[in-house]
Amino acid sequence: MPRPIFATIHLDSMQYNLAQARSYAPMSRVWAVVKANAYGHGLERAMRGFATADGLALVETEGALQLRTSGWIKPILLLEGFFDASDIPLLAEHNINSAVHNIEQVKMLEYTQLYRPIDVHLKMNTGMNRLGFRPDEYAAAYKRLRAIPGVRNITHMTHFANADELEHPRLTIAEQVRRFRFGAGELPGERSLSNSGGVLHQPDLGDALSNDWVRPGIMLYGGTPGGRAAADYGLRPTMTLRSEVIGIQELQAGDTVGYGSRFVADGPMTVGVVACGYADGYPRHAPHGTPVIVDGVRTTLVGRVSMDMMTVDLTPVRNPRIGSKVLLWGDGLPIDEVASSAGTIGYELMCALAGRVRVTEGRMGTDG
Ligand SMILES: *Cc1c(COP(=O)(O)O)cnc(C)c1O
Repeated sequence: MPRPIFATIHLDSMQYNLAQARSYAPMSRVWAVVKANAYGHGLERAMRGFATADGLALVETEGALQLRTSGWIKPILLLEGFFDASDIPLLAEHNINSAVHNIEQVKMLEYTQLYRPIDVHLKMNTGMNRLGFRPDEYAAAYKRLRAIPGVRNITHMTHFANADELEHPRLTIAEQVRRFRFGAGELPGERSLSNSGGVLHQPDLGDALSNDWVRPGIMLYGGTPGGRAAADYGLRPTMTLRSEVIGIQELQAGDTVGYGSRFVADGPMTVGVVACGYADGYPRHAPHGTPVIVDGVRTTLVGRVSMDMMTVDLTPVRNPRIGSKVLLWGDGLPIDEVASSAGTIGYELMCALAGRVRVTEGRMGTDG
């Protein structure tokens, strides 16, 4: 018997969420973002879950090549582009689109003899201040790229800093769109602006945000980019993490639990030890009170999360036993709720799912 912790990936929910993304942005084609091993879900699995996407986007060169090897024939996009000139012919050979976000990448393309053309996504920095050309230098970068014989289609691309908050006091989506329009103006080519936050706000923003391509990530995995709960947007969880109770302790008032003796019982109580720790990807900083579900009953974490185990309050659970089923997040307990309790975001929990956790595939609403 393996250790009882396992994650279930719901391919049906991935498919469903992709359809939701399309209904939010019906005029756009969809890049399903699958970076970081498809937000912890597995690249090959994502290829099946998002089989109807128009393309897959990621940042890992070897992942892009792996998708081709696994038989993905539709477009692939590298969101950070290539990291070295020697990769360019490889991308062209495998028909992998590349972002171009700095002048060094433009120079590398100029000096590379290409036997097959490459499609690029020219990235504009509209206020995030990570990657991209400033609006006032964008047209010049476009012109230089356009002059390279090996460069075929040029798509105009930017990324939102605050797509989860329409009226962010420092930088709104509307302001980023305004800068984008100023910089890209009437340049020919398709446009790609929206991440999940942008897609979910598409109905509010209407034409101002009509993209040829959108790039949703987290929403496809049933997570929210911030603010409201994913379920409010009609999204379904795609990753459920479960384990079991492997130990039970009866405490008296004054007894403490775990490393640092951080939790002190104020009366008699039953504590369950769950086979799930930070080496499985559960956040070590999750405090006392973080929700967890045992045998269908909602209860909370007590004491510190350790490497292989965590402890939970079994007092509200009717007949707790060794082998009681524990739901850590997913179908029945939103991952964002657990993340927020631990001071982080669902993205980080998904991506951190550890390699030692067994992964199965199963539909939502079943026990895996
Ligand atoms: C990660 C990423 C996305 C997806 O972002 P979500 O918030 O997960 O939807 C879109 N575009 C780019 C350039 C990205 O790096």
